Amino acid sequence: MYDILNGIMDEIRDFRASHKNIKVVPKVKPDEIRDFLADRYDFKDSVSIEKVFDDVKYTMRKWSLHVTDPRYFGLFDPQVTLPSIIADTLTALYNPQLASWSHAPAANEIENFTLNYFLRKFGMDPGKGFANFTTGGAESNLTAVLLALTAKFPEYGNNGLRSLKKQPVFYISEETHDSFNKIAHITGLGRNTVRVIGVDDNLKIDTFKLRKTIESDIRSGFKPFLAVGTAGTTAAGIIDPLDKLAGICSEYGLWFHVDAAWGGAAVLVPEYGNYFKGLERADSITCDAHKWLAVSMGGGMFFTRDRKNALNTFKIEAGYMPDKTKETIDTYASTIQWSRRFIGLKLFMTMAVLGEREMAEMIKKQVLLGEKLRRKLKHDGWIIVNKTPLPVVCFTHPRITKGELKPADIISEIYDRQDTWISETTLKSDMNVLRACITNYESTEKDILFLAAQLKELIEGEY
Ligand SMILES: *Cc1c(COP(=O)(O)O)cnc(C)c1O
Repeated sequence: MYDILNGIMDEIRDFRASHKNIKVVPKVKPDEIRDFLADRYDFKDSVSIEKVFDDVKYTMRKWSLHVTDPRYFGLFDPQVTLPSIIADTLTALYNPQLASWSHAPAANEIENFTLNYFLRKFGMDPGKGFANFTTGGAESNLTAVLLALTAKFPEYGNNGLRSLKKQPVFYISEETHDSFNKIAHITGLGRNTVRVIGVDDNLKIDTFKLRKTIESDIRSGFKPFLAVGTAGTTAAGIIDPLDKLAGICSEYGLWFHVDAAWGGAAVLVPEYGNYFKGLERADSITCDAHKWLAVSMGGGMFFTRDRKNALNTFKIEAGYMPDKTKETIDTYASTIQWSRRFIGLKLFMTMAVLGEREMAEMIKKQVLLGEKLRRKLKHDGWIIVNKTPLPVVCFTHPRITKGELKPADIISEIYDRQDTWISETTLKSDMNVLRACITNYESTEKDILFLAAQLKELIEGEY
């Protein structure tokens, strides 16, 4: 048994060192993996742990898109810190149950310590606010909508949406994360209650249109209750005018939620403070540690200014649960989850080992690489279509706008080469462009130049 533990340490060392020797993009059909598994396993006969470990290594290395590779310019999935890997291993080892404080005093306090630090960074008072770790941004955003409904409609919790005199509606932009459509479905609000506001030329929510839509909804007998601003949109890294949104929300009595799932990490960089003006006025905030804070999935965080409302939303009494203590909060009675994994340890260990200055440097380095990529692409004749200080670069080319080539042609050729990964995305509902995001603190200028060279070869070549 102890050999396998050494084997795991070897694999951690080797995989973190050997990225350059593996293919970033896999090439595989589902049947190949299904046959591999069916040939080896039936769960009837026992297989040695060494053999299973070898198979897991083989499949994971060969048939994964390697998001931890410095040449993965993808969807906010980071290279993870070593403290994060250690933390997730320890979490599995001790398996603390965080649902009730008394089951896991140390784990709960480590999480609270970490969350309080970020509450303060987001301009909220840990004495009055509340925060919890989540599986990710989708759960955090769901929490926000539930809290907003509970705060704005006191009868919602007991009597449900059907008891309300007016239909609640809420506001997002064309560029807001699509989790809100699922949330409208899950909560029973219905997908048609999501008002999708257009964006301006800079892909920011058009606050003039927002105001007009709110007014017309009120006139038509709907009840606006929530508006969402995004700090770092998924497709283009755009930061909405948060200060203006906060103003509109307070004018119309709406809950103001800021989805900073990716961009929120940048509050660790004091110089970037003015990009996020208005964030400190949010009623609730989503920020994923498993994106730009470089910990492994799932490491979401949810923050709200109003603790009483959070406790009211998720209140529950269960006879089989251990007694509550007076000076602590049990997460099973204050959040969506019941049994709760020690999600926060990887962020605690990462922040403790690296410190906020080094974390800020990591983020700044990626911002600078983003600028370099933008300049290089422009120099090579590409057209940059998004304007953001954050390292997401959306781009097209005269050959694409003239219709000679599609972004998908470039993408499929890049995936075929297996050395680097970027994506295509749609902006403003109909503008199809290429997207590259710096999402790895180990990416270097060499990796950027490699990507640019591949793109140049493809756009200039005939294939
Ligand atoms: C990634 C993302 C989400 C969803 O978060 P998950 O952690 O994937 O659940 C929500 N909003 C934004 C802006 C995101 O970038």
